[in-house]
Amino acid sequence: MKVVIVGGGWAGCAASFSARQQGAEVYLVERADMLLGTGLVGGIMRNNGRFTATEEMIAMGGGEVFQLIDHNCLHRNIEFPGHRHVSLYNVGTMEPLVKRLLLSQKVAIHLSTRVEEVEMDGPRLKAVVAKGGGEKTRFEGDVFIDATGTAGPPANCQKYGNGCVMCILRCPSFGGRVSIAAKAGVKEIVGKKGNQIGAMSGSCKLFKESLSPGIVSTLGEKGVAVIPVPPAERTKNKLSIKACQQYALPEFEENLILLDTGHAKLMVPFMPLEALRRVPGCEHARYEDPYAGGLGNSVRYVGMAPRDDALQVKGVENLFCAGEKAGLLVGHTEAIVTGILAGHNAVRFIRREKPLVLPETLAIGDAISHVRSQMETEEGLGYKFTFSGSVYFDRMRAKGLYTTDSRQIEQRVGLAGMAGVFSKT
Ligand SMILES: Cc1cc2nc3c(=O)[nH]c(=O)nc-3n(C[C@H](O)[C@H](O)[C@H](O)COP(=O)(O)OP(=O)(O)OC[C@H]3O[C@@H](n4cnc5c(N)ncnc54)[C@H](O)[C@@H]3O)c2cc1C
Repeated sequence: MKVVIVGGGWAGCAASFSARQQGAEVYLVERADMLLGTGLVGGIMRNNGRFTATEEMIAMGGGEVFQLIDHNCLHRNIEFPGHRHVSLYNVGTMEPLVKRLLLSQKVAIHLSTRVEEVEMDGPRLKAVVAKGGGEKTRFEGDVFIDATGTAGPPANCQKYGNGCVMCILRCPSFGGRVSIAAKAGVKEIVGKKGNQIGAMSGSCKLFKESLSPGIVSTLGEKGVAVIPVPPAERTKNKLSIKACQQYALPEFEENLILLDTGHAKLMVPFMPLEALRRVPGCEHARYEDPYAGGLGNSVRYVGMAPRDDALQVKGVENLFCAGEKAGLLVGHTEAIVTGILAGHNAVRFIRREKPLVLPETLAIGDAISHVRSQMETEEGLGYKFTFSGSVYFDRMRAKGLYTTDSRQIEQRVGLAGMAGVFSKT
C-alpha cells in the first residue's frame, strides 16, 4: 500500500501520520527545505470552536499531532478580543518536533523536492514527477493526496495582492506552489468576494527585540498585548481583505493586537512600517515575516479542489485532498483534521473499503460537509470558514456543537460510533 502525499504543511504532515497509522508505506514530498508550510508562522490553536474540533479528533483516535502541539505551547488558555481559551505554539521550535514524529513513524520525507508533473493512466494518477537538487524523481503510488495548499505562487500575489513580500513560503528560492489536482486536469475552484480573487493572509511577525521592553514583558507574562493605535494611523478596510474573517473585528483596527508565538504576531495583514513605528512602543519595530510586511502579505485561496465529504477529489479516481486544498477552511486545526481524514481514507481506498464520512453530529463532519456545499454557491465562495470564528463558529453555536467540555465531546463521539476510529486498523 503506497500513499504519496504532496505538500508538507500541517495537512500533509497529519495525512502522513494517519496513513502510517493504517499501515501504509508513506512518501511525503515537500518543495521547501522544512515541513509545516504556512504553519512555520501562525501558532494560534484551540481558540473558540477549535477547542471542540481538537478534542473530537483526540476522542476519534487521531490526536497525536494535536498532543505534540499542546506540549510545545508558550501560552495556554489565554484570551484576546473575540477569542477564548487560546493556546499559542512556539513557531520557532515546532517544525523539528513534527519532523521527528513523522520519522519515528517511518514516513519517507523528501524535502527540497517539488512536484512539477503528473502521469495519468486514464482517470487514475499513476505517478508524480518531482525535481530536487537538479535531479528528477518519480513517485509511483496506489493513491495520492494533494496537500499543496493555496498560497502563492508569486504570480498570484502579484495579480491579486501587493506583489511578493518575501513570505515564509520562499517561492523565489524553492519554486512556487504547483497543484496536483490542477496538473491532473481538475478544474479548480477560486475563492472570490466581489472583485477580490483569493484573500490575503491576516497576520505578520515582528522581532520582539525591536519592541519596547514594556511590550515584551507583557507578551511574556500574558501572551497578548493590546496597544491602542492613534486614529491617524488606522487604515480603514484593511481587514476586509483578510483570509481570517474571525479577526475582522473593530478591535483589530483600533488596536495593535500582538501575540507571543516566539516572535510577536501582529494581527493585521500588513501595516506600513512608518505608520507602525508611530504606535507607542513600536518606534523601532521591524518585520520578521513577511520581510516586506509593511507592503502586503501572501495571497491564498486561489485554487481549491472540488471534492466529496470523504475528501476524494472529483474527476480523478485515486486522488484525495486536505487542508486549504480541500476548501475555504482557514487554520492549522482545520488542516490537521482534514489531513487525518484524507490519510485514513487514502488507505481505505487501497483496501477497497467504503470511505469514512464523518457524521454531521460532530463539528468536524459538519464543517467538511458545510464548506463543500458552500463552495457550490457564489455567496459561499466569498466566505472563509474556521471553527474559531465568523460564520462557521456562529453555525457551530447555533447547532449546539460548540462546547469545551471534553467529557461531553467524548460522549458525542462515542454516540456517533466514531470513538477511536482513526487508531483502529
Ligand atoms: C501568515 C500566516 C499566519 C497564520 N496564522 C495562523 C494561526 O495563527 N493559526 C491558524 O490556525 N492558522 C493560521 N494560518 C493559516 C494556516 O497556516 C493554514 O490555513 C494551514 O496551516 C494550511 O495548511 P496546508 O497544509 O493546507 O497548506 P500550506 O501550509 O500552504 O502547506 C502546503 C505545502 O505544500 C507545499 N507544496 C506546494 N506545492 C508543492 C509541490 N508541487 N511539490 C511539493 N510541495 C509543494 C508547500 O511548500 C507547503 O509546505 C496562518 C497563515 C498565514 C499565511
